Amino acid sequence: MRWSQAFLPVLKESPSDAQIVSHKLMLRAGLVRQTAAGIYAWLPLGYRVLQKIEQIVREEQNRSGAQEMLMPTLQSADLWRESGRYDAYGPEMLRIRDRHEREILYGPTNEEMITALFRDDVKSYRDLPRTLYHIQWKFRDEVRPRFGVMRGREFLMKDAYSFDLDEAGARQSYYTQMLAYLRTFQQLGIRAVPMKAASGPIGGDLSHEFIVLAPTGESEVFYDAAYEDFDWQQSDLAYGDEAGLQNLFDRVNSTYAATDETHDEARWATVAGDRQRTGRGIEVGHIFYFGDKYSNAMGLKVSGRDGTTVTPMMGSYGVGVSRLVGAIIEASHDDAGIVWPEAVAPWRVGIVTMRADDEPSNAAAASLYEKLRAAGVEVLFDDRDERGGVKLGSMDLIGLPWQVVIGPRGIANGTVELKRRSTGEREELSLESALARLTQ
Ligand code: ATP
Ligand code: MG
Repeated sequence: MRWSQAFLPVLKESPSDAQIVSHKLMLRAGLVRQTAAGIYAWLPLGYRVLQKIEQIVREEQNRSGAQEMLMPTLQSADLWRESGRYDAYGPEMLRIRDRHEREILYGPTNEEMITALFRDDVKSYRDLPRTLYHIQWKFRDEVRPRFGVMRGREFLMKDAYSFDLDEAGARQSYYTQMLAYLRTFQQLGIRAVPMKAASGPIGGDLSHEFIVLAPTGESEVFYDAAYEDFDWQQSDLAYGDEAGLQNLFDRVNSTYAATDETHDEARWATVAGDRQRTGRGIEVGHIFYFGDKYSNAMGLKVSGRDGTTVTPMMGSYGVGVSRLVGAIIEASHDDAGIVWPEAVAPWRVGIVTMRADDEPSNAAAASLYEKLRAAGVEVLFDDRDERGGVKLGSMDLIGLPWQVVIGPRGIANGTVELKRRSTGEREELSLESALARLTQ
C-alpha cells in the first residue's frame, strides 16, 4: 500500500476523551473511530489487525478439532424464553421489535441458538462429541462502555460450544480448548495466564479466565511466578492425548492464579513469598463448563448406546477478538507508539523517504517496495509529501515491526537504514541486503 493513496488518518494530538494508552493509540494511529457510545468503525489499519487476530484464533480452533460455522447476530426472543434467559438477562440485552411486533434481540452470546440447532439435527450418541464455533459480533448494552474497544457495546467474539455424552468427555473438550487458548495467545505474541474464575450455577473447577497482564487492566490478579517459566506453547502435546491434556490441566489447576473475584487468601499463603506476583490484568478469554444447563432446559436429548436417552453435557469458550486489539497494545507499546508483535502487525515493513522531492530516493524506495510486494511481504510505503520527521513519527506511532528509511545522503552512498521497531536497533546496509533481510 502507498500511504499517499490510503485512508490512514493519524492524529498529532492525543485525543482527550481516551483514558488508557491503548485507546489513545488506537485513535491516534487511526485504527478505529467511535460512531456511537461503545460502537466503533474499524478503519483500514485497525481492520487489518482485527482480521489477523481472527485468523490466528480460527486456525488454532480448527487444529483443535472445532468446526467453524456462522450464526446470525439477531435472535428471536422465543428462543431465549426456552432457557428462561429472556427475562433473566437484564438490561445488557438489546431488545428490538420488528414491523410485525415480534420480539427479537441482538445476541449477547449464543448458547440458546447453538443448543436449538444441535437439538434439531443430532439424535444419536454417534454424533457426539462435537465442538462448534463462530466468530461473530455481539451486543451487550454495558452500563459503562469505556476504554475503547476494550469494553465496547458491540464487539467481536469467537465463541465455541462443546457437546459431550458425559462429564468425562466434557472435561476432555474443556482441556482441549484450554490448550488451544494457550497456543492462540502465544501465537498472538502475548501471555495470557489461565486464572480460576467464578464457576457459576453448577460449581466445580472448570472455569478459567485468560488474563493478559497490564497495569490498566480491570481486574486485580494474583499468580505464582511458576507461570513466568511456563511452556505456553506445549509443543509436545497432541490434541488427542488424553493423559497429556489431563496433566496440563492438573498443572494449571495446582499452580495458583486468580483474579480478585476468586482470590483465596488461605491458598495464596501457601505460595512462597518470593514467588507471589500481583498486578492487574485484562480478560481476553473465558472457558466454562455448564453441564446440562441448556440441554436440559431446552430438551436436547440423544439416544444412548444401549437404548437409553442421554442429555448432552456442554461447555462454552469465548475469546474477545476485538478486545484483544486493545489488550495487545496495552502489553506492547512505548512512548512513541504501538509496537506490534509480528504475527498481528497490519504490515510487516514500512518504507519511509526522508525527502519527498529527492528523485534517487523515490526511485530506490519504489523499487524496494515493488520487490518486497513481489516477494509476498506486506509493506506500507510512506510516499506522502511530508517532512521526514513527521513520517518517522507516524511510522513509530503505527508500530510496524520493520522500517526502511531512505534519504538522499544514504542513497548517494548506496545505503538505506533498517530499523527494528521493537528494540530501536538501526543498521546501515545496501538496498540489496535490506531486501534479502526482509524476505528471508
Ligand atoms: P467481562 O467480565 O469483561 O464483562 P464477560 O465475563 O462478561 O466479560 P464473557 O461472556 O466471558 O465476558 O465473554 C467472552 C470474552 O468476550 C471475554 O473474555 C472478553 O474478552 C470479551 N468481552 C466480553 N465483554 C466485552 C465487551 N463489552 N467488549 C469487548 N469484549 C468483551
Ligand atoms: Mg467472562
